[in-house]
Amino acid sequence: MPTIFSRIIAREVRSDIVFQDERVTAFKDINPQAPVHILIVPNKEIATVDDVTPEDEAVLGHMFIVARQIARDLGIGNKGYRLIVNCKDDGGQEIYHLHMHLVGGRRLGRMLPRAD
Ligand code: 5GP
Repeated sequence: MPTIFSRIIAREVRSDIVFQDERVTAFKDINPQAPVHILIVPNKEIATVDDVTPEDEAVLGHMFIVARQIARDLGIGNKGYRLIVNCKDDGGQEIYHLHMHLVGGRRLGRMLPRAD
């Protein structure tokens, strides 16, 4: 069963794709948490960070290059932004197709809420 992200990558499901090449696809998050919220997804279905293998090294590095370029294109390269990759339940991962969140366009504050 393909993930929703695989269906977006294959353009079977509509989304706002901002970048696509043979290795990755980037599209706007459906529920943005900041003025800029883009998901950068390997076209290959890798479930979680816990499932990456050495053969995924190039695509994982490519995700950073794509993130940097999109951030610059959207005008947040100078002020900065945050890249987030959630892994499994404790990491808050909802979609089990590895992806990087690119969030920015405002001050993002603390990385994690204080654990009181
Ligand atoms: P996770 O919690 O897995 O790291 O993040 C999943 C993200 O995917 C969430 O921010 C959620 O809003 C986004 N998302 C879930 N379903 C869809 C969808 O169908 N389209 C788009 N564009 N984003 C989605």
